[in-house]
Amino acid sequence: MLFQSRITRRFLASFLLASLTALTITGLFLLQYFHSYTMQKEQEALVLNAQIIEQTLAAQKQQDSRQFASLLQQLSDNTGLRITILSVDGTVLMDTSEPAAKLDNHFERQEVQQALAHEYGTAVRYSDTLLENRMYVAIPVYEDGKLIRIIRTSNSLAAAEASYQTLEHALITAILLAAAVAFLLAVWLAKRQVTTLERLRADAAIIAHGNYSHRINWRSGDEFDQLIQTINLLTENLSRTLGETKAEAEKLALVLAQMDNAVMLIDSQGRIIETNRQAQELFQLKQQALNRHSIHLLGSAEISEAAQRVSHTQQPETITYQRADKTAAGTSHTFTIFLTPFPNKDAAQILAVFHDISLLQEINERQAEFISNAAHELGTPLTAISGFAETLLDDDFQQPARTHHFAQVIYDQSQRMNHLIQDLLQLARLETLSHNRELALTPVPVLPALRSALSELQPVFHEKQQTVQFPSAEDVTLNDMQIAAVPELFTQIIRNLLENASKYTPAGGTISITLDAEPQSITIRITDNGIGIAPEHLPRIFDRFYRIDKARSRSTGGNGIGLSLVRYLTELFHGSIEVESTLGQGTVFILHFPCLNSKS
Ligand code: ADP
Repeated sequence: MLFQSRITRRFLASFLLASLTALTITGLFLLQYFHSYTMQKEQEALVLNAQIIEQTLAAQKQQDSRQFASLLQQLSDNTGLRITILSVDGTVLMDTSEPAAKLDNHFERQEVQQALAHEYGTAVRYSDTLLENRMYVAIPVYEDGKLIRIIRTSNSLAAAEASYQTLEHALITAILLAAAVAFLLAVWLAKRQVTTLERLRADAAIIAHGNYSHRINWRSGDEFDQLIQTINLLTENLSRTLGETKAEAEKLALVLAQMDNAVMLIDSQGRIIETNRQAQELFQLKQQALNRHSIHLLGSAEISEAAQRVSHTQQPETITYQRADKTAAGTSHTFTIFLTPFPNKDAAQILAVFHDISLLQEINERQAEFISNAAHELGTPLTAISGFAETLLDDDFQQPARTHHFAQVIYDQSQRMNHLIQDLLQLARLETLSHNRELALTPVPVLPALRSALSELQPVFHEKQQTVQFPSAEDVTLNDMQIAAVPELFTQIIRNLLENASKYTPAGGTISITLDAEPQSITIRITDNGIGIAPEHLPRIFDRFYRIDKARSRSTGGNGIGLSLVRYLTELFHGSIEVESTLGQGTVFILHFPCLNSKS
């Protein structure tokens, strides 16, 4: 396990290499030192011996050569040295190992040559005579300044070589032992380092797997502590940065999810990469299919062309895009799309923000339509007024009946204008009130309110001899029914509907009011058997100024505001209104209101 680690192997190799090199160098140095020391000592001993022999020879000068030889032999036996006496020309005069005659001239021997030039000469070589390595030392002997002979001493190097070898073996053994110890030491040290590294790696792996709250809480007691501190600091910074980034991303996601606008991120190929919920709902995109959907899917080449332009020029652009609504027939949505390059390090992207301006457009259109209708509605009576007034100005007032008629028309038309203005003002006032949520709803008993509206209009029904059917006062279940409304305005709803019923029902017709109480709601039906409404007009009769037969309506004093006001008020009281009608047979307006005192 341990040796699988490269760091351990490297550590061991370097440690072993360093220690072995050091030990080897030390060993070699020791051997070398020992060798030269031994040789030096050997040489000094030989020189000393030669000098002793020289002294001895000088003292024994007078003795004969046989005595001299036996003395040398004695010296040789005592010291174990080989002693050779040479003449100045190198002839062996005497030798303690071999008969002198057997030995050749020694003049050329290295030690002899050196001795002739220096204080003494020395040589180490293999002796063919004694068959071993020997050291030779020669000293010149002078008498009265003249070289008279050369004394050579030599000793076997066998003992020195043997101790050298013993030392060599001892050193090799020591080196091997030291290497083994070094190896064990290296293993121990490497293991310590690797264990620390392994612990660090394990902690770093936990952090790398996303646990940024993890901290390394052990200490190694060496330089690794700094690394541990750095990793902890790094993790803390990373965790904080990630937290901030996450919070930012969440904020952005929240903003994107809550905003009314649809937002999309498109790449340069027109692929939709990211959207908010509004965009997915609006364009029916599936989250899983993102990255595969193309902006072409929205059905407008204009958007993809604009996206390409923005991607190319890197300049923001705003375009208008009209989208036919797939769900509601005939309706369409209009958007302004703001396209801007989106900073992204990998690939160019474009951010598209869709502003739905349909409502704004519709409001604008309605406003324009309203102003034009109002102007028209006011213009018509005004034209009549000014026409008849002009005629009156030129009149000689000789025909009182005619004059009266003209004055009557002027009065009627100004009354009509007045009604219209009153209606418009009321509508405007109501819109402001409901917009500011200042309209206070109070419980309104339904039956008394219906009765009051009916009694107000009694003269109208009477004039046209119309019969009115109303729920009998005995029906106690209906007596207490209440809805949340403004009493006068609720009465106005009923009054407007009853007025219309009378207006659009021929004389002698029947108008009925029914009241149905359900557990949660109350339903009021106002039915007439009048002229009825053709189906094509039904969807529009609640629109402002909408009248089916303008001439007829005008003759009956209508201005097309009544029903729009009725619907507006009904919805203000959390109710709803429907109409059912058959041309030539009659019409029924059905009102539903939430009931305050529900029966359940
Ligand atoms: P107006 O003041 O012209 O009556 P309204 O908004 O009250 O305006 O009504 C809009 C149009 O709806 C009327 O012009 C009329 O053509 C039609 N209408 C309303 N009530 C009835 C009804 N009970 N029977 C037939 N047509 C009706």
